[in-house]
Amino acid sequence: MPLSTLCQRCGLCCDGSLFSSLPLRYSEVEAMQRLSLPVVNRPDGTPGLEQRCAALKGQCCTVYAERPEQCRRYRCFLLTALAEGEVSPEEAQVVVDEAHARIRAVEALLPSERADSPRAVLQRARKEDLPENGGPLPPQTQEVWAQAESYLDRHFRGRHRRM
Ligand code: SF4
Ligand code: SF4
Repeated sequence: MPLSTLCQRCGLCCDGSLFSSLPLRYSEVEAMQRLSLPVVNRPDGTPGLEQRCAALKGQCCTVYAERPEQCRRYRCFLLTALAEGEVSPEEAQVVVDEAHARIRAVEALLPSERADSPRAVLQRARKEDLPENGGPLPPQTQEVWAQAESYLDRHFRGRHRRM
């Protein structure tokens, strides 16, 4: 399985599941704005591309030739493990499927979507958990959510923080 095939079936690093934004170079900001992709301030004050990325359609990047440097360089733990032969394509696909299943399990427990809800399920959980939005979420939801985040940390995020 080519590495890109796994990514086309996954999309977690573009759809807001792993990150709320990805780092941009200052020189990339104008190009993102020209492409009508929302640029946000990251917690450290640097510019970031909002995730879920507005360029993602289905599981495909619609600005592939102009995607930022971070998108070109990024490889999650799982993709690195696949590239280095530490996991087989079949094993990698099982991990991706399990990640999607865990995210769907969180979604099933969340209150109904509101007009201003983030499209990414785990970002929605973070928002719903805030006291001003009626949080904290019930213990069962907290547990399923924590398990999903932990699975994503272990297999995908690694040392990259959830910014
Ligand atoms: S999270 Fe990993 S496997 Fe999934 S699309 Fe991103 S790099 Fe590819
Ligand atoms: S620009 Fe393309 S590769 Fe980068 S986050 Fe958006 S959809 Fe993903």
